[in-house]
Amino acid sequence: MYDPKSLKAEEFINHEEIMDTLAYADANKDNLELVDSLLEKAKALKGLSHREASVLLACEDPERVQKMYDLAEQFKKDFYGNRIVLFAPLYLSNYCVNGCVYCPYHLKNKHIPRKKLTQEDIVKEVTALQDMGHKRLAIEAGEDPVNNPIEYILECIKTIYSIKHKNGAIRRVNVNIAATTVENYRKLKEAGIGTYILFQETYHKESYEKLHPTGPKHNYAYHTEAMDRAMEGGIDDVGLGVLFGLEMYRYEFAGLLMHAEHLEAVHGVGPHTISVPRVKRADDIDPDTFDNGIDDETFAKLCALIRICVPYTGMIISTRESKAVREKVIRLGVSQISGASRTSVGGYYEPEPEDEKSEQFDVSDNRTLDEVVRWLMEMGYIPSFCTACYREGRTGDRFMSLCKSGQIQNCCHPNALMTLKEYLMDYASEETRAIGEKLIEAELKNIPKEKVREICADHLAKIEEGIRDFRF
Ligand code: SAM
Repeated sequence: MYDPKSLKAEEFINHEEIMDTLAYADANKDNLELVDSLLEKAKALKGLSHREASVLLACEDPERVQKMYDLAEQFKKDFYGNRIVLFAPLYLSNYCVNGCVYCPYHLKNKHIPRKKLTQEDIVKEVTALQDMGHKRLAIEAGEDPVNNPIEYILECIKTIYSIKHKNGAIRRVNVNIAATTVENYRKLKEAGIGTYILFQETYHKESYEKLHPTGPKHNYAYHTEAMDRAMEGGIDDVGLGVLFGLEMYRYEFAGLLMHAEHLEAVHGVGPHTISVPRVKRADDIDPDTFDNGIDDETFAKLCALIRICVPYTGMIISTRESKAVREKVIRLGVSQISGASRTSVGGYYEPEPEDEKSEQFDVSDNRTLDEVVRWLMEMGYIPSFCTACYREGRTGDRFMSLCKSGQIQNCCHPNALMTLKEYLMDYASEETRAIGEKLIEAELKNIPKEKVREICADHLAKIEEGIRDFRF
């Protein structure tokens, strides 16, 4: 039975409800009156239900699809403005006891080098990341209770936060590790993590079990209910995601929205972010063996609909996507992107030797952070290294209310400008700095409150003198 308030995976991600939703969407995809009314309803910024959203996804009328894109673009402008937050992944270990068939870290892969960063390695890697200008990391690890126990992850987080190199500091560590216990989530919370990210991979239980044939990750319910345990353990911000390509995208999209509805219904706050990874080529993985790959157009439509249907949730696009695809979807509502990523265990401090490659998957966007920052600015975006919300305690529903009250222009906007200024002073190339300085000057004027504008201008001048870490 479908029940968004249930704590049982098979009730809040109910298969029959998804199948009924898809049938309803198919039956109504040409019902343009309904489609128009849903687009109208979406304008109220209260989101759309999984059923409503699925009708929009099924609709192929070119004029309506264009309206979806326009609306997504409008929402992005109105609520997120032109800021794009930057982060980098840091792979701690690729030891893994699971059998995920799409991931080269699966246990049966005997030729991929298994690596695990020591605390000394972390100092080197994080110093290199700080020297690029990163302030926000997402740590990643395979699941292995012997090699990567929670104590190891906690020690790594502590080390990462302790490294202060020149003007560098990692101010927010997001965590993408396997589903775990309430007790371990509590420990992660105490360690000061930002968002806990866990991709569902697929919401389709039968496929999930086939795609995860062995290891603890095989347990669909334990994996799907992880965010409830994370929230029970005190983690306010959780990040959802589907690995597109594994199952039918319409099924996944309905499941993703049902998951968001469930979190809202039970915990009073939806997901902080949604990631939209697509399966990529990797060591012993050929993405073409999966039948459900989606083309760039469908991918863009999914991004636009996530923006419209879950308006206050951040959206993340990684370097799995090429520059061209990122360019296409950023304007549709993306709020965070990774830059200059390495998906290997180590590799920031010095490149891995050819015969020792430990990458999780191929990266399509190989540009440096300086190039990514410049590219964003040339497209009219403000690259932001801001982590203020998390450090000011604006997490969970407190962040959402900031978003909903439209205060972003007086809070996130100045913070973005100040962190960009820090980046320009400390890490940017001359060319990037010149573009950035002009952008900051122009963007300062867009802060609505005069007092905030004055304080921001004052802080910007102090950053120029060498003082760091101002925030609203
Ligand atoms: N081991 C943790 C877990 O099971 O959730 C951490 C996740 S892993 C380091 C990060 C994510 O990479 C996975 O959740 C999966 O969605 C994604 N991934 C794995 N193989 C991939 C591939 N071949 N292409 C793209 N993404 C992949």
